[in-house]
Amino acid sequence: MKLNRKEFLSLSGKTLMGLPFFPALMTQAWSHPETPKMMTGEAMIEVKVKKLILKHTWTISRNSSDFKNNVFVRLEKDGIVGYGEAAPNVRYGESAEKTVKRIQEASHLLNNRDFFHYVEIKEALDGVIVDQNCARAALDIALMDWVGKALGVPLYRLWGLNPERAPVTSFSIGIDTPEMIRKKVKEAEAFPILKIKVGTDRDEEIIQAVRSVTDKPIRVDANEGWKSREEALEKIQWLKDQGVEFIEQPMPAEQIDDIAWLRERVDMPIVADEAVKTAADIPRLVGAYDGINIKLMKSGGLQEAWRMIQLAKALGLKIMLGCMIESSVAISAAAQLAPYADWLDLDGNLLISNDPFSGVKVEQGKLIFPDRPGLGVEGTF
Ligand code: MG
Repeated sequence: MKLNRKEFLSLSGKTLMGLPFFPALMTQAWSHPETPKMMTGEAMIEVKVKKLILKHTWTISRNSSDFKNNVFVRLEKDGIVGYGEAAPNVRYGESAEKTVKRIQEASHLLNNRDFFHYVEIKEALDGVIVDQNCARAALDIALMDWVGKALGVPLYRLWGLNPERAPVTSFSIGIDTPEMIRKKVKEAEAFPILKIKVGTDRDEEIIQAVRSVTDKPIRVDANEGWKSREEALEKIQWLKDQGVEFIEQPMPAEQIDDIAWLRERVDMPIVADEAVKTAADIPRLVGAYDGINIKLMKSGGLQEAWRMIQLAKALGLKIMLGCMIESSVAISAAAQLAPYADWLDLDGNLLISNDPFSGVKVEQGKLIFPDRPGLGVEGTF
């Protein structure tokens, strides 16, 4: 099958409309004679819950935890194995139990399918998994890992991205006593940028503890912790003098008008996190926020994250790529899109002590991609 230029351009024009990776795939399929044939065999899906232990008690404005139960997926077909991961988050009504259930309910959608029709499979998953976005993410990540491995390329390469363009990642410091914050900041010496969790009644104390041991750039995440726009304005004006680069989700997600009010009065980018999950949430944020924090667990996977990036860029919003507490599976998945990001916060795997996988590594905040296809991860399922 060959297309003339006009036909090709008409196909390319549809990339934003729901055929995100088609041109890249066409190139692969046409130039590599060893590309696998249409596959219709049975897929085997295994699901496991693993307890990820946090190095330090993890506290944000909403809650505190010592471990997270994440859900892992192993997807095998034709001798190729793809891995996926879900990090259920109570903020979005998710649990490991419900996530496992949704994955089991949706797994038949992967049977007797050509996995290279991953766009079609994503649409089918979207129709069946309507809550527990992280369950969709686990399946989509496993599927895309499988596709990358079948083609023999890392996903960033499939999408035409240069890994050298990825910005450095920040390292997150959870809410703690001033003494522990100073300790954590010292432990994070190798990271050039820190992200500090606030949203409490002692935010000044937290930032002062950070500033007593480092003068490196910091970013601040209030996790919806400030309830009024006046409080948020006062805090942000103070943070500006503390060398803060940007503020993430200063007020509750639904208070978009208050954010717009705030944005007219502060000289610091405001980034949406809890206020945005999928592409459908993005248009209403224009004019209120300067950027959006895209996470695979909120979006429901890599394909939707890709779509969000294109839409946000078209609307003039900055791209932050973030994560939950996740192992190297989900972190390495998000890292594949890192060259698109203005700001990177992919440190979830660095906050746990028992990562069952290894993949993308971090040195001085810079992502180091392994020379392996798909997500580039290996480990124990
Ligand atoms: Mg956040």
